[in-house]
Order: sequence, then C-alpha cells, then structure tokens
Amino acid sequence: MDIQASADANGPSAAVLGRLLVIQQAVDAIPDDIRMVDFVLRALSGVPGIADIFLHLVGVNEPDPQLAALLERCATVIPDQPTHNLLRELGPDIQCFPMDTPGQHLGCLVVFVGDKQALQPYLPFLSNISSTINRVLASRRYQLRLAQLNEELREARDQLEMRVAERTRELEYRATHDPATGLPNRALLIDRLQNAIVDARREGHLVAVVYLDLDSFSFMNTGLGNDCGDAFLVETARRLCRLVRESDTVARIGSDEFVILLAGLENIERSSARLSAMLAAVREPVALDGKQVVVTASIGACVYPLDGAEAELLLRRANTAMHRAKASGKDNVQFYASTRDAPVAERMELETELRHAIGAGELTIHYQLKLDVAANRYVGAEALVRWAHPKRGLLPPGRFIPIAEDSALIVALGEYVLRRACLQARLWQEAGLEGMTVAVNVAARQLRDERIVETVRQVLRDTALAPELLELEITESSIMHDLAHASELLHKLKGLGVKISIDDFGTGYSSLSALRNFPADKLKIDRSFVHEIETVPSAAAVALAVISFARTLGMRVNAEGVETLGQAQCLKKHGCDELQGFLLARPVPPEQVPALFRQPGLAEWNPAGP
Ligand code: C2E
Ligand code: MG
Ligand code: MG
Repeated sequence: MDIQASADANGPSAAVLGRLLVIQQAVDAIPDDIRMVDFVLRALSGVPGIADIFLHLVGVNEPDPQLAALLERCATVIPDQPTHNLLRELGPDIQCFPMDTPGQHLGCLVVFVGDKQALQPYLPFLSNISSTINRVLASRRYQLRLAQLNEELREARDQLEMRVAERTRELEYRATHDPATGLPNRALLIDRLQNAIVDARREGHLVAVVYLDLDSFSFMNTGLGNDCGDAFLVETARRLCRLVRESDTVARIGSDEFVILLAGLENIERSSARLSAMLAAVREPVALDGKQVVVTASIGACVYPLDGAEAELLLRRANTAMHRAKASGKDNVQFYASTRDAPVAERMELETELRHAIGAGELTIHYQLKLDVAANRYVGAEALVRWAHPKRGLLPPGRFIPIAEDSALIVALGEYVLRRACLQARLWQEAGLEGMTVAVNVAARQLRDERIVETVRQVLRDTALAPELLELEITESSIMHDLAHASELLHKLKGLGVKISIDDFGTGYSSLSALRNFPADKLKIDRSFVHEIETVPSAAAVALAVISFARTLGMRVNAEGVETLGQAQCLKKHGCDELQGFLLARPVPPEQVPALFRQPGLAEWNPAGP
C-alpha cells in the first residue's frame, strides 16, 4: 500500500494522518492475528521516514534471530500498571513500540527509520496504532483465556458429575445388594417382586416366590469359621444363579436365607423341576478348607396370584411354607397352603419323599404270577413295585415311577427292585419253587446308561441267581427312540444269560421289521388289546398279528391284563404262550406267592375240569 504524502514537507501530511487513523480503526475489525500482521505491515510501509517495519506478535510470527535478540530488550512485562506503550529505541535507527499488558508481553511494532525527521510527526500515531493492536490482542488473549477457563471448568464439572454419579451408583448398589455374595438384598427383591407382580397381572402370568433356607448353616460358621461360611454362601449363590433365567432374581435376604423369584411363569408345573434342582444344587458337596462340606436346604414356595397379590405378603407366606419344610425333615420343598393341593406341589413332595423312601425301606414289591398256557401251570412272576407311604398309604407305581424317571431317582429305585426281586427268586428256588422266573421292569432312563449291564451282572453275582431265571421287561416305547443303541445294550444284557421281553407291546408304534433283529425273547401284548380282544375286531387283529409275528421270529408271547375266561380262551386258541392278569392272580406280597405258584392253573383247562 502506498500512502500519498502531501506536498507540505514541513508538517505532517493530512492524507497520511487520515490514513493512519483509518488503519488504527481497521485493526479492530481484522478477525485473526496473522491477517492483522499482514495488514498493518502493508498499510504502514508507505509512511514517510519508515525504511522498514516489523510487527512481532508473540506466538504468531517470529522475528529473525538477530532481531529477536534485539527485541529481547523491549520485552518488558508490566506487572500491574495500565498499558504504557513507550517508544523505545533499540538501536540508532530502530524504534520500537512494545505491546504489554499487566503480566504479559504481547509483542512489539518495530520501525526501521529511514528519515528521522520525516517520521517524527507520525510517531504519536504509530504509538496509537500499536496501542490499539495491543488492546485488540489483549482482549483476544483474554477471550481465549476465558474460553480456555470455561473449557477447563466444564471438564472439571463433567468429572465431578461423573464421580458423583459413580459414587451414587456405588451407594445405590450397596443399598440394594448383599456385600458378601453380590446378590440383590431384601429391598431390591421387594422392588423386583412388585414389578414382577405388575407384569404378571398384565400378562396373565404367575410368579413363584421361593424361600430357600440352608439347614444347620450356623454350625458351619461356628465349626469352620466365618470365612468358610462366607465362601459357602458365595458358592451357593453361584449355583442358584446358574439355575434361573435372566428374568428371574436370586436374592439373599438373611444370613442363610435366599429368595428366588421365578417371574412370568405360564404354569407352576414346569417350575417344579427347577425347585428340586435347587435342592440338589445346594446338596452337592462344597470343598472348603480341604474338606467336603454338605449342607442341605429347605424350600418354601408360594405363587402370585394364588397365594396373595402383594409382595410382602407373598414373602411371608413363602417363609411360612419354608418353616413347614424344616418341620417335615428339611431338604424338601413345601408349598404354601393354597397351592399345596396343586398337582405340582404333590409331585414335588412325592419326589422329595421318594428320595428318602428307598433308604427308609418304604418300597415293597408285589409279584404277579404268569401262567404257561400249554402246561397250564405257573412259571414265573413279575415284580411290581409299590410304595408304602407313611401318610398316603400304598401307592401304585403309576404315582411315583414317572416322577422317579424325571429325576434320575429311577436308577437307584430300579437297582433296588432288581436286587430285591433277584434275592426273592433265589429264596423261592431254595424253597423248592422249581423253574420259577422273576421279571423286573427296566425304565427307559436306565437303558440310557451303560452301567445297567454291570449292575445286572453284579446283582446276579451277589444273589447267586441263575441268569436264565431273570427276565428284564423293557417297554416298547423306551427302545424305539434309539433302536440301535437299545439293541446294542440289550445284546450285552443278553450276553449275561438273562431273558429280555418287550413290555406293553402294541403301544410303542414300533415297525415290526425293526424288531426282526432285536434281541428279545418275548413280546408282552399290552393289556389294552387284550381287554378288547373279544369285543373290538381291530384289537383282536393286533393281538393275533403279534402272536403270529412273534412265532415267526421264534419269540414267546405273553398277554397282559387277562381278566375274563373268554379272553384267556381266545388267546389260547390263537397260540399265545403265557397269560398274566387278574383272572389268574393279582399282584401279591412275596409271602403269598408260593401257595399261588403251586396251584394247578386255570381250573377250566384242567383235564378234570372245574
Ligand atoms: P407293567 O409292567 O405293564 O405291569 C403290569 C401292570 O398291569 C401292573 O400294574 C399290574 O398290576 C397291572 N395288571 C395286571 N393284570 C391286570 C389285569 O388283569 N387288569 C388290569 N386292569 N391291570 C392288570 P402296576 O403294578 O400298577 O404297574 C404299572 C406299571 O408300572 C407297570 O406296567 C410298569 O411299567 C411300571 N412298574 C412297576 N414296577 C416297576 C419297577 O420296579 N420299575 C419300573 N421301571 N417300572 C415299574
Ligand atoms: Mg412289566
Ligand atoms: Mg405291561
């Protein structure tokens, strides 16, 4: 930029002065420092007397090292005085206008003087311009600092808020959780239960409140110390949590008391297995301090809405039921009164009681005799288990075998019956009941386990019963879902010398061709066909087809559930080998068997007649 100097050589040029005033005002409007430097240098370069000019702003542009050394001298930091931009002489022809604010040196305007005299009248204006730059810079630095401070403040506030939130969460967690196990505590449990009730009411679901109390847990604290007690609780919590879904809650609400909420249930029946699984999980030994510790639990349960619609009430009722479980010998499940009659509750109770029944000798075995048709004499008996329940009386197997099958208890129960029946058969041999076989029912679940072969071998050895006197009855339905595996296992069993019969034949929808290579010695026609053999032609057809099929494969045929003489005659006519049913004998306790066995069979078939 070139400033037209006036012709008046003695005084300042009005044009230059006007221009300098414009420059002074323009500085304010230039938004950034670099452009400001550029503008000022170009604008001032035409001022009379100036050889060269340099505007140094700290942190914006740097002077060359030589000038920088000179500028050092002008860098005064004004501590608390208002701005004074005193002209300084840095060298014989170098004028400098420092720009300082309290506490800060912002830069300087350096003028290399060409003609001192010509410059003289403009010096005050240059000083004003440098003051303006100084003011603008100071204000910008201040704004910048302010923004920085604001940012720092915001960051500090954010951090504080984060810490407060963290701490609040921590406090909330502590207020709602048990410190030892990390499980929800009573307060959170009630909250969750209330929510579960609201959801269940809306969706028409049920909520089970399960109160689990460890049996004799206090002995552990006193015997092994509190640390072991705590470790045991943690392990118990872990086991319980594994058995519930994400939507359920496991809470610890007292020293050895847990409450489990099973939410959103469609029916109680499905959850019954989970309650016994909880008992079983607690009962598993826990390794503590080098010892295997076994602690059992008692469970009381109640159900929304059957037992109440309010959280605290449900909890109290579950607790009442838990105390009943304690009173009935611990290690069992009891439901609150109004659910007690529900089938699930009965099932649960039976399962618990059944576990003890075997050891307590409550299972007894009745025997039903089988008649050989050709010889018209008894040849064996089927062992049928009963449960002499201390409160419910004599229970038929239909009431508890399915429960035992569901819970794996069947394996122990099956072995028990097998052992007792084999021993009984051996005793009958010794008592002179010659050739008397004994048939034992084997459940599907027992067949899934290879160990059955070893069990049978062991029992035969222990009881010294001749293997051919033992018959294993396997239902058709239990072999059908894995025929190949069943076939292999039965081959092994047969290898021991025992006989195999297929029970309830006709109900399992087996394909006859599949049975061709099956290692069975006998088919037992299901009693539903026998029952209708005289009245329903299709039932008769099935019975007859089975008989001829078995004959072809060289198997014997037994007909179960023979109740009338007519049925017996019909079966005999079609070549059935063996009969079993109320017509001949009902299942009876073992002491009645010898007398029945020695009877002559069906009187109508005796040569002498009835
Ligand atoms: P199953 O093996 O088919 O036994 C025959 C069932 O028919 C027995 O019922 C017997 O009492 C019944 N029965 C016999 N003759 C007649 C008759 O003329 N009319 C009628 N209506 N019924 C007759 P129970 O003793 O109630 O046994 C039912 C089922 O329980 C047995 O059917 C068997 O599958 C199972 N079971 C019994 N004991 C055991 C056992 O020790 N282990 C296993 N796994 N299952 C067993
Ligand atoms: Mg049977
Ligand atoms: Mg049967």
